[in-house]
Amino acid sequence: MSYLTQKTIKNKVAFNGIALHNGLNVNVCIKPAEPNFGIVFKRVDLKANNLVYPNFMNVTNTSLNTTIENEFGVKVSTIEHLMGALFGLGIDNALIEIDNEEVPILDGSAKQFIEKIIQVGVKTSDSPIKIIKINKEIRFTDGERFIVIKPSTLSLDIDFELKYKNTVIGNQRNKVKVYEDDLSNVYNSRTYCLYEDIEFIKKKGLAKGGSLDNAIVVKNKEVLNSGGLRNKKEFVNHKILDCIGDLYTSGYRIIASITCSQGGHYLTNQLLRRVFQNEENFTILEIKEKNLPHTLINRKILRSIA
Ligand SMILES: [Zn+2]
Repeated sequence: MSYLTQKTIKNKVAFNGIALHNGLNVNVCIKPAEPNFGIVFKRVDLKANNLVYPNFMNVTNTSLNTTIENEFGVKVSTIEHLMGALFGLGIDNALIEIDNEEVPILDGSAKQFIEKIIQVGVKTSDSPIKIIKINKEIRFTDGERFIVIKPSTLSLDIDFELKYKNTVIGNQRNKVKVYEDDLSNVYNSRTYCLYEDIEFIKKKGLAKGGSLDNAIVVKNKEVLNSGGLRNKKEFVNHKILDCIGDLYTSGYRIIASITCSQGGHYLTNQLLRRVFQNEENFTILEIKEKNLPHTLINRKILRSIA
């Protein structure tokens, strides 16, 4: 099996569940697609103008989720965990049919997306993959928060830190090599919020479908979810999942080293906009088999698929 050619899923795979922000019940069906199709969302509840491309230029909202929108105002929101799963599994091409405006939150992580896609399997094509190699250091700063992307030889490293006054979250930091490490703890980590922020979030019309079934809620020194945390660094690991998903709005997998402090959807999107402003900042490589004795997708996961 080749690691450096484009992949899709072997068979369609369906998900159903509540959307975190609009609270509605949503169906998603991910279908196989031909090489060079890319990842495309299709709003099947609409008859026309219903294709939405998950490209960073189409991101129109980064408040507590990543929302993409086409030129006709048709949107798909909360795409980031599904996009993170597709990036991690090395899925280059898929048509994602959705019958509402928001991807279901499921358990608040990418766990079910990863497990179900592994279950149906991955289909490899003969077409080479394309990869973005970062050539220059680019930084985006917003007050104390920042994200910086630097050139790397062959890997995608993400070094992320959180700084919360709340002592349960605190100063949590993790560093992963996306193509080499076992990322189970990243995919399994759930979205989270502070108990005292819930009222404000709901006033903004968000998190209508939020519950302890799909988000970690932290109240003072306590995690309110009955099972506690899934892993010690679940908060920062979830932010790394968001970052991977948002990076996939670049269209391809990336070779770079990323450091982020207290960032999120907004910072990652602003960074991508700056990177792609100038062609000197990046190169798009077409990787032909045997050119590179290295996997650019996560081998550990693929071993379990093969
Ligand atoms: Zn998230």
